[in-house]
Amino acid sequence: MSVRKPPLNKANLMLQQEAIDAVRGQTLAPRGHFIDGRSIASDSGDVLDIISPIDGAILTSVAAGSKADMDRAITSARSAFEDGRWSKMAPAQRKKILIKLAELIERDALELAVLGVRDNGTEINMAYKAESLSAAGTFRYYGEAIDKIYGQIAPTANSVLGLIHHAPVGVVGAIVPWNFPLMIGSWKIAPALAAGNSIVLKPAESASLSLLHLAKLASEAGVPDGVFNVVTGKGSVVGEAMGLSMDVDVLVFTGSGATGRRLLEYSARSNLKRCYLELGGKSPNIIFNDAPDLAQAAKVSAAGIFRNSGQVCVAGSRLLVQEDIHDDFVAEMSRHAKDFKVGNPLDLSSQIGAVHSLSELEANLQFVQTAQEEGAQCVAGGKRILSETGGYYMAPTVMSGVKVEDNLHQNEVFGPVLAVTPFKDEADAIRIANSTVYGLSAGVWTSNLSRAHRMIEEIKSGVIHVNTYGGSDLTVPLGGVKQSGNGHDKSLHAMDKYFDLKSAWIQL
Ligand code: NAD
Repeated sequence: MSVRKPPLNKANLMLQQEAIDAVRGQTLAPRGHFIDGRSIASDSGDVLDIISPIDGAILTSVAAGSKADMDRAITSARSAFEDGRWSKMAPAQRKKILIKLAELIERDALELAVLGVRDNGTEINMAYKAESLSAAGTFRYYGEAIDKIYGQIAPTANSVLGLIHHAPVGVVGAIVPWNFPLMIGSWKIAPALAAGNSIVLKPAESASLSLLHLAKLASEAGVPDGVFNVVTGKGSVVGEAMGLSMDVDVLVFTGSGATGRRLLEYSARSNLKRCYLELGGKSPNIIFNDAPDLAQAAKVSAAGIFRNSGQVCVAGSRLLVQEDIHDDFVAEMSRHAKDFKVGNPLDLSSQIGAVHSLSELEANLQFVQTAQEEGAQCVAGGKRILSETGGYYMAPTVMSGVKVEDNLHQNEVFGPVLAVTPFKDEADAIRIANSTVYGLSAGVWTSNLSRAHRMIEEIKSGVIHVNTYGGSDLTVPLGGVKQSGNGHDKSLHAMDKYFDLKSAWIQL
């Protein structure tokens, strides 16, 4: 069901509703795993229904993987790695194939985006750019990079030569979440493949469709069989089997802190595989009274929490506002929250799509209720909407009067719920900003350049924005500190995860 004609006006990257409408209702056949270059059913024959958050209906099913399926995929990845069909291919040849893959992703960009929207609920405009086009860009970037990475000669004594080689690590296991599966998956798959590794990918059980399609495109581009495998199914079954495998060398993960902890345990109980974890956040977005443009700050901050229904790891979910501008700023944020058009994510007119699942929606509403019980006020949203569609939609929600010790201040919602807390001065803002276990992202709005630099230094986060929020580019690394994780995706720094440094001593 590939869409061969470019669905967009390339001059302005505008999607057209007509093109979306042509594919949005297509029946989706049940999907198997992708192992050793072909689609196969689960060993057990079991399947998992995929529910669309757009209307709550069953969309299709994917294989409910077993430990045997995961072992089969890992064996396939291992033999592909050891016989060198990819790992020993000339970097310039790997580059050609990865760039071809980028072109195929662009060819199928609309199909990939619609698949993703149907199983995870992201608004189509965002899915098209942040999933499809960004994935293509990621494969092109790491494909282009791989024949420009050199080894080193160490400055040793004269009579000996110390060589430092970059060796691929072997079999990479990648586990990704349901939000932005294609984008986040590509951040891991592309550099791992570029470096010459084989991969087994485990998508979230509820958002596998676009990644299964990607695996087929990789095969079409010329990635040899066994080099890129996808095993679908539950984290507690196939994810655990991957984590406990003695034959996975490196595990790269994006998801919750709770699962990240499990992966470290699995590693300790098996082969001490290196684990790189990209985890959750509770990111502070700090508005000083000297912000250059408070109206712009409110507009960008609202998008920074509510787009994709707040299901963005770096979402600015804690708004810290200086006391003397607090009431006016919160009123402005509430106005923006109420203005967003929430609706079917396949309609270009919808600015915000669906919450990923019923259980996520219920958890979001529980956060609102607990916050109210702890004394916060709901000044916008706070409820499920459009329930007549059968889908899972929530009104963008602003909760004011949230205290540092409150549940809503300390814990990640991963939904469209903003916690607002006032602060007195710079020291107070820093104290509140650093008062959670997370350290993923932050924002600071001020005209004072010295203050901006102090905040960049003092706020414990992997990413910080000044007078903007949510900027993103493949050339800039993304990673957290504290309990938000320990690895970096994106940029050339991400390559470090997928190489071992191998030292060679040569007596002259
Ligand atoms: P999750 O941890 O529940 O699931 C993530 C993946 O782990 C899924 O594929 C799941 O099947 C798998 N998994 C679950 N249990 C497992 C187990 N026992 N063993 C092995 N694998 C297991 O997270 P989620 O709900 O899918 O995603 C939301 C979380 O991801 C949020 O916390 C969000 O902040 C985080 N996230 C972080 C980033 C980042 O870059 N730091 C980006 C996106 C999302």
